[in-house]
Amino acid sequence: MYFHEPTYDLDILARQNLHIHALFSGCAKREMVLSDIIKTAENAGLEAIAITDHIFDQNEEFRQNVKELREQLNTIATDIKVYIGGELSAYGVDKYSFKGEEIELDYRLWAHNHYHVTGWEQPEDRSPEGYKKHMIATITNLIKADKADCIAHPFHDSYLTNSSRGLVDFSKGSVPNCFTENEIGDLLTLAKQHETAFELNLNVVPAFPDIYRKMYNIGKEVGAQFNIGTDAHKLENIDTKQFIDIAKRVLIG
Ligand SMILES: [Zn+2]
Ligand SMILES: [Zn+2]
Repeated sequence: MYFHEPTYDLDILARQNLHIHALFSGCAKREMVLSDIIKTAENAGLEAIAITDHIFDQNEEFRQNVKELREQLNTIATDIKVYIGGELSAYGVDKYSFKGEEIELDYRLWAHNHYHVTGWEQPEDRSPEGYKKHMIATITNLIKADKADCIAHPFHDSYLTNSSRGLVDFSKGSVPNCFTENEIGDLLTLAKQHETAFELNLNVVPAFPDIYRKMYNIGKEVGAQFNIGTDAHKLENIDTKQFIDIAKRVLIG
Protein backbone atom coordinates (compact mmCIF):
# COMPACT_ATOMS: atom_id res chain seq x y z
CA MET A 1 0.00 0.00 0.00
CA TYR A 2 0.98 3.62 -0.30
CA PHE A 3 2.29 5.53 2.69
CA HIS A 4 1.43 9.04 1.53
CA GLU A 5 -1.03 10.90 -0.65
CA PRO A 6 -0.04 10.73 -4.32
CA THR A 7 2.49 13.48 -5.03
CA TYR A 8 5.66 14.17 -6.99
CA ASP A 9 6.70 17.09 -4.80
CA LEU A 10 10.07 15.99 -3.50
CA ASP A 11 9.93 18.34 -0.51
CA ILE A 12 6.68 16.73 0.58
CA LEU A 13 8.03 13.23 0.01
CA ALA A 14 11.15 14.16 2.00
CA ARG A 15 9.02 14.64 5.10
CA GLN A 16 9.26 10.88 5.38
CA ASN A 17 12.37 8.75 5.68
CA LEU A 18 11.21 5.23 5.00
CA HIS A 19 14.59 3.50 5.01
CA ILE A 20 16.49 3.55 8.30
CA HIS A 21 18.63 0.76 9.72
CA ALA A 22 18.70 0.17 13.46
CA LEU A 23 21.13 -1.80 15.57
CA PHE A 24 19.94 -5.16 14.38
CA SER A 25 21.42 -4.54 10.96
CA GLY A 26 25.02 -5.52 11.57
CA CYS A 27 26.03 -2.83 9.08
CA ALA A 28 24.47 -0.02 11.13
CA LYS A 29 26.38 2.02 13.69
CA ARG A 30 25.89 1.13 17.35
CA GLU A 31 24.34 4.54 17.92
CA MET A 32 21.24 3.47 15.96
CA VAL A 33 18.98 2.79 18.91
CA LEU A 34 15.31 3.48 18.41
CA SER A 35 14.95 6.33 20.92
CA ASP A 36 17.87 8.24 19.39
CA ILE A 37 16.66 7.56 15.86
CA ILE A 38 13.28 9.05 16.78
CA LYS A 39 14.85 12.03 18.55
CA THR A 40 17.00 12.74 15.50
CA ALA A 41 13.99 12.44 13.20
CA GLU A 42 12.01 14.82 15.38
CA ASN A 43 14.82 17.37 15.29
CA ALA A 44 14.92 17.03 11.51
CA GLY A 45 11.20 17.80 11.32
CA LEU A 46 10.27 14.48 9.77
CA GLU A 47 6.65 13.32 9.89
CA ALA A 48 7.22 9.60 9.47
CA ILE A 49 10.07 7.11 9.56
CA ALA A 50 10.39 3.41 8.90
CA ILE A 51 12.86 1.11 10.60
CA THR A 52 13.99 -1.32 7.95
CA ASP A 53 16.51 -3.82 9.20
CA HIS A 54 17.78 -6.44 6.81
CA ILE A 55 16.27 -9.84 6.69
CA PHE A 56 18.17 -12.42 4.74
CA ASP A 57 17.24 -15.77 6.20
CA GLN A 58 17.36 -15.39 9.99
CA ASN A 59 13.61 -15.23 10.53
CA GLU A 60 13.71 -16.00 14.24
CA GLU A 61 16.27 -13.31 15.04
CA PHE A 62 14.33 -10.87 12.94
CA ARG A 63 11.11 -11.71 14.76
CA GLN A 64 12.85 -11.03 18.09
CA ASN A 65 14.15 -7.75 16.75
CA VAL A 66 10.74 -6.59 15.59
CA LYS A 67 9.23 -7.56 18.93
CA GLU A 68 11.92 -5.64 20.79
CA LEU A 69 11.50 -2.58 18.61
CA ARG A 70 7.74 -2.61 19.19
CA GLU A 71 8.24 -2.88 22.95
CA GLN A 72 10.67 0.02 22.89
CA LEU A 73 8.35 2.07 20.72
CA ASN A 74 5.55 1.62 23.26
CA THR A 75 7.67 3.43 25.85
CA ILE A 76 8.56 6.39 23.63
CA ALA A 77 6.32 9.43 23.37
CA THR A 78 6.51 10.99 19.94
CA ASP A 79 4.32 12.72 17.38
CA ILE A 80 6.22 11.11 14.54
CA LYS A 81 4.66 8.12 12.83
CA VAL A 82 7.08 5.24 13.32
CA TYR A 83 6.70 2.15 11.15
CA ILE A 84 8.45 -1.00 12.27
CA GLY A 85 9.26 -2.66 8.99
CA GLY A 86 12.03 -4.52 7.26
CA GLU A 87 14.33 -4.47 4.28
CA LEU A 88 13.35 -7.87 3.00
CA SER A 89 15.20 -9.93 0.45
CA ALA A 90 13.81 -10.93 -2.93
CA TYR A 91 16.98 -12.94 -3.49
CA GLY A 92 15.94 -14.25 -6.87
CA VAL A 93 12.91 -14.79 -9.06
CA ASP A 94 10.14 -15.99 -6.70
CA LYS A 95 12.67 -16.34 -3.86
CA TYR A 96 11.74 -14.50 -0.70
CA SER A 97 13.34 -14.22 2.74
CA PHE A 98 9.94 -13.43 4.16
CA LYS A 99 6.73 -15.09 3.09
CA GLY A 100 4.40 -12.53 4.57
CA GLU A 101 2.65 -14.28 7.41
CA GLU A 102 5.54 -14.91 9.84
CA ILE A 103 5.91 -11.50 11.39
CA GLU A 104 3.64 -8.51 11.39
CA LEU A 105 5.41 -5.63 9.70
CA ASP A 106 4.16 -2.08 9.22
CA TYR A 107 6.29 -1.49 6.16
CA ARG A 108 7.60 -4.00 3.66
CA LEU A 109 10.57 -2.63 1.76
CA TRP A 110 12.07 -5.19 -0.58
CA ALA A 111 15.59 -5.29 -1.96
CA HIS A 112 16.04 -7.14 -5.22
CA ASN A 113 19.69 -6.38 -5.97
CA HIS A 114 21.87 -7.37 -3.00
CA TYR A 115 23.74 -9.66 -5.37
CA HIS A 116 26.84 -9.66 -3.14
CA VAL A 117 24.98 -11.53 -0.39
CA THR A 118 25.72 -15.25 -0.09
CA GLY A 119 22.89 -17.30 -1.56
CA TRP A 120 21.54 -14.51 -3.75
CA GLU A 121 20.49 -15.94 -7.11
CA GLN A 122 22.70 -14.94 -10.02
CA PRO A 123 21.45 -15.11 -13.60
CA GLU A 124 22.97 -17.69 -15.90
CA ASP A 125 23.90 -14.91 -18.27
CA ARG A 126 26.14 -12.69 -16.17
CA SER A 127 26.26 -9.86 -18.68
CA PRO A 128 24.63 -6.49 -17.92
CA GLU A 129 21.71 -7.56 -20.13
CA GLY A 130 21.43 -10.84 -18.22
CA TYR A 131 21.31 -9.05 -14.88
CA LYS A 132 18.77 -6.59 -16.23
CA LYS A 133 16.45 -9.43 -17.27
CA HIS A 134 16.93 -11.04 -13.88
CA MET A 135 16.06 -7.78 -12.12
CA ILE A 136 12.93 -7.33 -14.23
CA ALA A 137 11.74 -10.87 -13.55
CA THR A 138 12.43 -10.57 -9.82
CA ILE A 139 10.69 -7.21 -9.45
CA THR A 140 7.74 -8.21 -11.67
CA ASN A 141 6.95 -11.33 -9.67
CA LEU A 142 7.50 -9.56 -6.36
CA ILE A 143 5.00 -6.85 -7.25
CA LYS A 144 2.49 -9.37 -8.60
CA ALA A 145 2.75 -11.34 -5.36
CA ASP A 146 1.51 -8.23 -3.52
CA LYS A 147 4.30 -8.53 -1.01
CA ALA A 148 5.86 -5.12 -1.37
CA ASP A 149 5.01 -1.66 -0.15
CA CYS A 150 8.16 -0.40 -1.82
CA ILE A 151 11.08 -1.58 -3.96
CA ALA A 152 14.38 -0.50 -2.38
CA HIS A 153 17.12 1.15 -4.44
CA PRO A 154 15.78 -0.27 -7.72
CA PHE A 155 17.83 -1.19 -10.78
CA HIS A 156 21.29 -0.23 -9.58
CA ASP A 157 24.32 -2.50 -9.78
CA SER A 158 26.63 -1.17 -7.05
CA TYR A 159 26.45 -4.42 -5.17
CA LEU A 160 27.70 -6.26 -8.22
CA THR A 161 30.37 -3.91 -9.41
CA ASN A 162 31.78 -2.64 -6.11
CA SER A 163 32.14 -6.07 -4.68
CA SER A 164 35.58 -7.47 -4.06
CA ARG A 165 34.21 -10.90 -4.86
CA GLY A 166 34.72 -10.52 -8.56
CA LEU A 167 31.08 -11.20 -9.37
CA VAL A 168 31.21 -9.42 -12.71
CA ASP A 169 33.70 -7.77 -14.99
CA PHE A 170 31.61 -4.83 -16.19
CA SER A 171 31.62 -1.37 -14.71
CA LYS A 172 29.17 0.36 -12.41
CA GLY A 173 26.05 1.58 -14.20
CA SER A 174 26.19 -1.04 -16.95
CA VAL A 175 23.02 -2.80 -15.79
CA PRO A 176 20.86 0.32 -15.30
CA ASN A 177 22.05 1.51 -18.72
CA CYS A 178 20.41 -1.55 -20.29
CA PHE A 179 16.90 -0.65 -19.14
CA THR A 180 14.70 0.77 -21.88
CA GLU A 181 12.06 3.36 -21.16
CA ASN A 182 9.39 0.79 -22.03
CA GLU A 183 10.76 -1.68 -19.53
CA ILE A 184 10.84 0.94 -16.79
CA GLY A 185 7.33 2.06 -17.79
CA ASP A 186 5.97 -1.49 -17.65
CA LEU A 187 7.36 -2.03 -14.15
CA LEU A 188 6.06 1.29 -12.89
CA THR A 189 2.63 0.68 -14.41
CA LEU A 190 2.46 -2.72 -12.74
CA ALA A 191 3.62 -1.15 -9.47
CA LYS A 192 0.84 1.40 -9.67
CA GLN A 193 -1.77 -1.34 -10.16
CA HIS A 194 -0.53 -3.00 -6.96
CA GLU A 195 0.09 0.21 -4.99
CA THR A 196 3.76 -0.60 -4.71
CA ALA A 197 6.05 2.43 -4.53
CA PHE A 198 9.54 2.65 -5.97
CA GLU A 199 12.17 4.10 -3.71
CA LEU A 200 14.03 7.30 -4.34
CA ASN A 201 16.97 6.21 -2.24
CA LEU A 202 18.81 9.45 -1.60
CA ASN A 203 21.97 7.52 -0.92
CA VAL A 204 22.19 6.14 -4.47
CA VAL A 205 20.18 8.56 -6.62
CA PRO A 206 23.24 10.81 -7.27
CA ALA A 207 25.36 7.80 -8.24
CA PHE A 208 22.94 6.67 -10.98
CA PRO A 209 21.47 9.91 -12.33
CA ASP A 210 20.30 8.61 -15.72
CA ILE A 211 18.19 5.70 -14.54
CA TYR A 212 16.68 7.61 -11.63
CA ARG A 213 15.77 10.64 -13.73
CA LYS A 214 14.07 8.27 -16.18
CA MET A 215 12.35 6.41 -13.38
CA TYR A 216 11.04 9.59 -11.79
CA ASN A 217 9.77 11.10 -15.04
CA ILE A 218 8.21 7.91 -16.36
CA GLY A 219 6.65 7.33 -12.95
CA LYS A 220 5.03 10.74 -13.15
CA GLU A 221 3.65 9.90 -16.60
CA VAL A 222 2.12 6.58 -15.58
CA GLY A 223 1.02 7.68 -12.12
CA ALA A 224 3.36 5.49 -10.07
CA GLN A 225 4.43 6.63 -6.62
CA PHE A 226 7.79 7.05 -4.93
CA ASN A 227 8.95 6.85 -1.35
CA ILE A 228 12.01 8.61 -0.05
CA GLY A 229 14.57 6.92 2.15
CA THR A 230 18.17 7.71 2.97
CA ASP A 231 19.27 4.16 3.85
CA ALA A 232 20.60 5.67 7.07
CA HIS A 233 23.11 3.54 8.93
CA LYS A 234 24.08 6.40 11.27
CA LEU A 235 22.15 9.16 12.98
CA GLU A 236 23.56 11.99 10.90
CA ASN A 237 22.02 10.46 7.76
CA ILE A 238 18.45 10.45 9.03
CA ASP A 239 17.64 14.02 8.03
CA THR A 240 16.43 13.83 4.42
CA LYS A 241 16.75 17.58 3.79
CA GLN A 242 20.53 17.50 3.51
CA PHE A 243 20.24 15.24 0.45
CA ILE A 244 17.21 16.66 -1.25
CA ASP A 245 18.82 19.45 -3.29
CA ILE A 246 21.22 17.14 -5.03
CA ALA A 247 18.38 14.68 -5.63
CA LYS A 248 16.32 17.47 -7.19
CA ARG A 249 19.18 18.35 -9.52
CA VAL A 250 19.42 14.73 -10.59
CA LEU A 251 15.70 14.08 -10.97
CA ILE A 252 14.41 17.40 -12.24
CA GLY A 253 17.57 19.08 -13.58
ZN1 LIG B 1 19.69 -2.42 0.59
ZN1 LIG C 1 19.16 -0.51 3.45
